[in-house]
Amino acid sequence: MFENKELKTGIRQLDEMLGGGLPSGEFMLVGGRPGMGKTSLLKQIMKNNEKTACLYLSYDYCFDHLPLLVEALCRASDYDCFVVLDDLDQFKVGEEEAGFRLKVIAKQFNIPVIGAVKLPRDLERRKDKRPDICDFHKGFMGMEPDVEAHADVILGLYRESYYNMDYSVEDESKKDEFIVVKNRHGKTGTIDMSFDGRKRTWEEVLLKYSLYKPGIGKKDVADEKRVELHTHTKMSAMEGVSSPEALISRAAEFGHKAIAVTDNCVVQAFPEAFRVAEQLANKGTHIKVIYGMEAIIYDDESNLQSHAVLLAKSQKGLKNLYKLVSWSHLESLHNNTPCVTKEKLNELRDGLFIGCCTSRELFQAVLDGKPEETLRNIAAFYDYLEIQPTETFLSVFENDKTITQEQLIEYNGVAVDLGEELHIPVCATGNVFFCDPEDEVYRRILMHGRGMDNADDQAPLYLRTTNEMLDAFSYLGGKKAYEVVVSNPGRIADNIDIIQPIPRGIFRPHIKGSDDELQDCVRSRAMEIYGDPLPVLVSERLERELKAIVENDFSVFYVIAKRLVEDSEAHGHHAASRGFAGSSLVAFLAGITGVDPLPPHYICPVCRHTEFFTDGSVGSGFDLPDKVCPICSSKMKGDGHNIPFETFAGLNGNKVPDIDLNFAVGYRPAAQSRLCFMFEDDHVVSAGTVAAITEKAALQFVGKYATDHDLQLSEEETSLLARGLTCIKRSAGRHPCGLMIVPARFEAEDFTPLQYCDGDGECKEITTHFNFCDLCNSCLKVDILGYAVCDMIRRLEKDTGVKVGDIPMNDPAVRSLFVSTDALGVTAGEIGCSTGALSLPELSTPLALQILERCKPESFSDLIKISGLSHGDGVWFGNARELIEEGVCTLKDVAAARDDIMIYLMEKGLDKETAFRIMEITRKGRSGQLFTDELVNRMRDKNIPEWYIDSLKKIRYMFPKAHTAAAVINAVRLGWYKLYYPKEYYNTCFSIRGEHMNEEEAAAIAKEARCRGVDVDFA
Ligand SMILES: [Zn+2]
Ligand SMILES: [Zn+2]
Repeated sequence: MFENKELKTGIRQLDEMLGGGLPSGEFMLVGGRPGMGKTSLLKQIMKNNEKTACLYLSYDYCFDHLPLLVEALCRASDYDCFVVLDDLDQFKVGEEEAGFRLKVIAKQFNIPVIGAVKLPRDLERRKDKRPDICDFHKGFMGMEPDVEAHADVILGLYRESYYNMDYSVEDESKKDEFIVVKNRHGKTGTIDMSFDGRKRTWEEVLLKYSLYKPGIGKKDVADEKRVELHTHTKMSAMEGVSSPEALISRAAEFGHKAIAVTDNCVVQAFPEAFRVAEQLANKGTHIKVIYGMEAIIYDDESNLQSHAVLLAKSQKGLKNLYKLVSWSHLESLHNNTPCVTKEKLNELRDGLFIGCCTSRELFQAVLDGKPEETLRNIAAFYDYLEIQPTETFLSVFENDKTITQEQLIEYNGVAVDLGEELHIPVCATGNVFFCDPEDEVYRRILMHGRGMDNADDQAPLYLRTTNEMLDAFSYLGGKKAYEVVVSNPGRIADNIDIIQPIPRGIFRPHIKGSDDELQDCVRSRAMEIYGDPLPVLVSERLERELKAIVENDFSVFYVIAKRLVEDSEAHGHHAASRGFAGSSLVAFLAGITGVDPLPPHYICPVCRHTEFFTDGSVGSGFDLPDKVCPICSSKMKGDGHNIPFETFAGLNGNKVPDIDLNFAVGYRPAAQSRLCFMFEDDHVVSAGTVAAITEKAALQFVGKYATDHDLQLSEEETSLLARGLTCIKRSAGRHPCGLMIVPARFEAEDFTPLQYCDGDGECKEITTHFNFCDLCNSCLKVDILGYAVCDMIRRLEKDTGVKVGDIPMNDPAVRSLFVSTDALGVTAGEIGCSTGALSLPELSTPLALQILERCKPESFSDLIKISGLSHGDGVWFGNARELIEEGVCTLKDVAAARDDIMIYLMEKGLDKETAFRIMEITRKGRSGQLFTDELVNRMRDKNIPEWYIDSLKKIRYMFPKAHTAAAVINAVRLGWYKLYYPKEYYNTCFSIRGEHMNEEEAAAIAKEARCRGVDVDFA
C-alpha cells in the first residue's frame, strides 16, 4: 500500500547523511535555543516539498487530536504526505509520552514526521554552546524527558552569529552549523551552514566540507555505564585513526570504568595507553585499561581465517599475549599477516579472555544453517561472544553485498541464545576505529589514499555512549539489551587485573665479576701510564669515578664497551667512542675512548714523570710544545683535554651512562655478533621502531582526496586534516644501530614481543615489537654504529705502514691545514677553499669551514671549540660570531661546548654545584625560564662578565666536549695522512667515502688532489 520514499530536506549533505532524505516512518527532532532558525528550517523543508501534502501544527496544540488529523490527511493524499510540528515543547501532552507517540504516528502511517523543540537554557552556560544529545535528553516543558530516545534523527541548530558580536559578514559562511547528534542511518557530525537573517533561509556552505570539528562535548548520561571491549587505535596500521590517548580520554570523560585496546595483530599501543591512564589517575580520573588484541586465527585445514579478541586478565596473561604476538610474527605469517592457530591459543590461553569476534566462523555457520551441535562446538571455544550493532557489523562484510541487515540481526539473536544455553557471556562491542563520529573523515581519506573504492562509505565505527549502544540493541528487548551492553562487559572488566605492559624499574644485564674486571683493568692501566704511585690528581679522579660507577651498578656498561672495543682492535679494526665517553677517565683507561679527560699535562713515557696544568693557562695537552723530561731526558708527550666527569655522569655520578660506540662499517656486524655471544643470541635484539605517516605524506593523502572529490579546501582545513593523519602507524622498522639487551634471568616477552624488522619477514633481523623508546627506561640499549673514519684509518695504516697511535698530535704543519693551504703546496684560488681542511671529518662541513676561515685556530683546543660552535644551536650565529668579530672576547673564552661553561665558571671561582646547574640549564636552552636573578647575581659576584651571561642566554643546544674532542682527534690524524701521504689518503678517501659524498664535495676534493699531483680515480 505505501511506497517507501524519502523526504528531501533540500540540504544536500543532510540528505546524504540520512541516506537520501528522511525516510517514511521516521521521526526527526530539530532543536535549538530561540533565535537559532528552527522555524525557518521547517518552512524551508516544507517549501522544498511544496508538491507534497503537509500537516503543519504549531504551539499549544493538544496531542490527543493528532492521530485523527494525520489519518485524514493520509487518506486525502493517498499517504503521500508528511507532518511538521513546531514548538513541540508547548504542546499539551496527555498521559502517554510524546516522543513515543510521534514515533508511533510516523510508523503507523508510514510517513515522515518532523518536530522542533526549544532546548533548555543550560546549554548557553557552556563555553561551547553547540547542542549535544544531553540537551535533548533533559526534557522540555510539558514533555517527557525521553522524547529523544524515540527520535530516529536528532538535529541541533547553532548560529555563531547569534552569540558572537565580532561576527563579520566575511566569515559568515564559516559560522553556522547543523549538528546531527543522532542518526539511525549511520554518520553523525556537523554540517557547515550559513543562515541568511534577512531572508530567514538556511544555505549549505558549499565546498566547505565539514571535515573537522573538535569535540562537541558529548556525554554518556547513563547511570550504569557500558565498557567498550573492542577498539582499534592508530597502531592498527593504516586502519585505525585515533590515538590511544584520544580513545581512553574520551571513555574516561564518558565515565566508563574501563576500555580495552585491541589492535589488529599488534600491541604497540600499550605503552601509550598505560601512560595515558596513569596521567588521568594523577588528575583523579580512574579508568582501567584492558590490554588486548584482535587476533587472526588461521585454520590450516580449511585455509580459512576468523578473528578473536584476546584480553589479558592478569600479568601472566599479558606475557602469554606477548608470546602469541612473537609467535605469530616470527613463525606464523600467512600472506604477511601474523596469525595464530587454535592449538597455539589453547597452549597459551592461561590468563586470557578469548572473545568470539563477529567474524566469519560462527556467523558463516549460522548462515549455512549448520546444526546447533556445530554452533555449540564453535561457541564453546570462547570465553565470551561479541555482537555488534548492525551498521557496524555490516562493515565487516564490506566486500559481500549479499549480507543483509536481517541476517545480522538474526545472527545476534542466535549468539544471544547460544550464550544463554552455554553460559557464555554475550557482549555488545563497537569495533571502534575512531573516537567521534566525525573522525570518520580521517579514515575516509586514509582508505581513499590506499585506493579503496568504498572509502567514502564509512561505517559508524565510533566510541558509543551507553544509550547509543542500548538503542542499537533495543530489538533484543530492554532487559537483554541491558545485559549485553552494560552488565556483561562490565563484569569482564571487573575480572581483569590492573596490568603493567612494560615492567617498571631498571633491568640491566649482568656480567659476573664486572666490578672487579673494570677496576682491575683501569687501575693497572693507570699505573702503566702515570706510574706507581699514581699522581694524587689522577688517583683522586679515578677513585671518585670508580666509586660512583660501582655504587650505581654501572660497571656492566663499561665492561660491555671495553670488551667490544678490545675485540675490534684485536681484529685490526680501529674503534672509537662518540658522545660522552671521553668525559670519563675510567672510559679512557678502559680503552673505550681515546680522549683523556684529565687537565692538560706532560707525561714522560719512560719514567712516568708528569706535569699538570690546572690554572687554565693551557687549553689542551695536545697544544703543549715538545719538551724533554727533567728526570730522564726522554721526549715527553702532551695529553689531557680537561673534561669534567659530571657532564657524563651527572653531579652525583648516578646518571645512566650513554655509551655509543663507533666501529668500522666493515666490522659492525662482527661487533654485533660479539655482543650476542656475550649475552646469548635471544637476549640481544635490534631496537624496533614504529614508522608513522609523516606530515608530508599526510598532506599528500589530503591533497589526493580533495582533488579526486573536487573539493577546495582552505589551507587551514588541509592542515587540520593532515594533522589528524600524522602518527598513524605505517609500518615497523628498526633503529639503525641500537641493540636492546634482555637480562639473562628474563625472557624477551617479559618486556616486549618480538618480530622481524619489517614486520613481514622479508628481512630476517629480529627486533623488539615495541618502539625502543618505550623500553629504554627498563632495558639497556647499546648503540653500535658503523663509522667510515674507522675504515679509513685501518686502510691508511695498512697502505702507509704508519700506526695511527704513532701520529704526533702537535705537528705544526698539520695544524696549519686548518688555517691555510700553504702546507699542501697549493693556493686557495687553485682549490677554491682557503684552508686545507676539505674532506677531514667534522671540520669540513660548510659551517665549520666558514668558522675556521673567520677564527683562524691557533691550537688544538681552538679546533675543539670550532667543532662545538659548528654543532650547537644558538651558539655561533648571533652569539659567538658577533662576540669574536667585535673583539669582545676570543675563541678561547667563548662557550662552545657544555663543559666549557662548567670549567669557565669554576675557574672564575663559582662552586661546582652552581656551575653544573648553570651548564645544565644553558645546554637545554632553558635559561629564559630558569636563570633567576639570584643565579645571575651569583655569577656577577664572581665578576663573570655581562657578555658571557648574555651569551649563555642565547644558547639553545650544545654538544658535549668529549664528542667534539674525539672528532677533532680523528680530523688531526687524518690530516696528518693527508699532508704526508697524499696518494694513499685521497685513494682511501674516495674508495671508502666516495659513494656517500655529494657531487660538489667530491669534485672539490678531486680538484684538490689533482692540484697536489694525485690522480684520483673519480668519475
Ligand atoms: Zn576489530
Ligand atoms: Zn722521564
